[in-house]
Amino acid sequence: MPRSEPIKAARGVRDILPAAIPLWRQAEQGAAGVAQRFGYQEIATPIIEQLELIQRVGEDTDAVAKELYRVEKRGTQNLALRPEATAGVVRAYFEGGLNQGPQPARLYLIGPMFRYDRPQKGRYRQFFQFNVEAIGVGSPAVDVEVIELARSWLIEVGLDKLALELNTIGDDQCRPAYLDLLRTYYRPLKDKLHPDCQRRLEVNPLRLLDCKVPQCQPLKTGAPKITDHLCEPCASAWAVVLKLLDAAGIGYHLNPYLVRGLDYYTRTTYEAIATSGLGAQSTLAGGGRYDGLVKDLGGPDVPGIGFAAGVERLALLLAQEGKERATRPVVFIAPLGDAEAARADQLAQQLRAAGLATEVSFRKSNPGNQLKRADALGARFALVLGDQELKSDRAKLKELKTGAQHEVTLSGFADEVRKLTGGPR
Ligand SMILES: [Zn+2]
Ligand SMILES: [Zn+2]
Repeated sequence: MPRSEPIKAARGVRDILPAAIPLWRQAEQGAAGVAQRFGYQEIATPIIEQLELIQRVGEDTDAVAKELYRVEKRGTQNLALRPEATAGVVRAYFEGGLNQGPQPARLYLIGPMFRYDRPQKGRYRQFFQFNVEAIGVGSPAVDVEVIELARSWLIEVGLDKLALELNTIGDDQCRPAYLDLLRTYYRPLKDKLHPDCQRRLEVNPLRLLDCKVPQCQPLKTGAPKITDHLCEPCASAWAVVLKLLDAAGIGYHLNPYLVRGLDYYTRTTYEAIATSGLGAQSTLAGGGRYDGLVKDLGGPDVPGIGFAAGVERLALLLAQEGKERATRPVVFIAPLGDAEAARADQLAQQLRAAGLATEVSFRKSNPGNQLKRADALGARFALVLGDQELKSDRAKLKELKTGAQHEVTLSGFADEVRKLTGGPR
């Protein structure tokens, strides 16, 4: 490659530049804070896993069938970059002995996931998720806890226009008979379905219910609903979920078309939806109970439930809704000469010790230019420090947004700024 060609990022991935980071931190820190308040502990699993683990969890899904990011075979193991977090977390739950501790193991994970499909706008090969898993207890009360956690997180980061879509998909006791009913209903309509749905009709008819293709929509209305065909244990678990949500004051919308295509998913499935701002791409978090998964992975019969949420989509929505919380420096200090520079450094130390983000200008220029720079940085206050200010111990602190000038002393500077901001000690 000729030297003049700058090397670019790999295809399909991107940088998160400093200007975009505050929204990410807002989403992530909100996630960690809420998860911990619910008693969930962070877990970090590797981004590479054995191919076999990933395939067992998601053989039928697009994420695994078409989009899996395989890693060139090294040594004897076939590896892939994780397309989702649950498989790795469930593996670690046993490998790390968390199954021996208090149950459910309440776990959360924040990190990158990978897919290898055609890059397109808004879809990247590396994307970030917040994942919550509660493993080891089958009680429907856990379903409600996890749903509440997802909702609290979205509210905490600043969203209020939310809806909860809810369904149950039964279990291996009642679902097979229901799937037969569904096939029986759809077979005479086969010609009217779009090609993918025609193919799924016999193999995975549940997926016909969440098809988004227009021609398939009118056919759904007459389809049998699984909530009318639940076995007794599924029906009573479902009743408890609804009762507890009502008691918690959490509104929901029953959506009989909200399904999961994999056999190990059981009972409760749900999605938290943004009701304004993102148009069609409105699902912020989605999850469900996966009581059959651990067994599918070769473990004992251990129930679990969780959700996954995309950090990119949330950050985008927060930006659109103007929910970004400022993280720019609180104070910008511009010393005009060398003597003032030393004093500026002391003041910055005191401010930072008081928890106030501070930047000191290294550029020698006139006060007007310094104020412009403070403005460009998004600072809240600017202090221009000259000979006069040093001698008198008095200065004017400019509030950039309002133009207000606050009289301050340099000897009590940190305290006075703290009073103005009402900020941390
Ligand atoms: Zn379809
Ligand atoms: Zn059942």
